Amino acid sequence: MPTKAHHPLVEDFLARLEEKDYRHTGTREEVARAVAQQGSHFTAEALCEALPRVGRATVYRNVKLLVEMGFLCRVLMEDGELHYQVSHKGHHHHLICTYCGQSQDLLNCDFQGLLKEKASTQGFEVEGHTVELYGRCRTCASEATAS
Ligand SMILES: [Zn+2]
Ligand SMILES: [Zn+2]
Ligand SMILES: [Zn+2]
Repeated sequence: MPTKAHHPLVEDFLARLEEKDYRHTGTREEVARAVAQQGSHFTAEALCEALPRVGRATVYRNVKLLVEMGFLCRVLMEDGELHYQVSHKGHHHHLICTYCGQSQDLLNCDFQGLLKEKASTQGFEVEGHTVELYGRCRTCASEATAS
């Protein structure tokens, strides 16, 4: 059982900060710890609420840093609300269930070739893409057929 003090996300984040010569502050650690304790995806606001003693700007700045370093990914909900979740790292997409709100990672993306082809007809060179998929997860789908 990992103890509270040795969560892998917290440890990796602190190690990466050190590598990059960022100042290791107690606040950064506190934010990373709160992130590690969030269940699935969360808003920056929820994180602020979990950290009443940390200023909002500091929370937002650290969330941005965690995204840049690949520890968190942005998850755009169907209603346009931006959430965050601990990242799988590397390129991937999210399968977001609009019934229960659960988000799963979709790895092994093969959209890039297709998107490149489509965009090239308009003379556009694709450098990257973001795609979120909305629908019904397996659990919700089986509950729907059962009832
Ligand atoms: Zn992700
Ligand atoms: Zn679901
Ligand atoms: Zn992709």
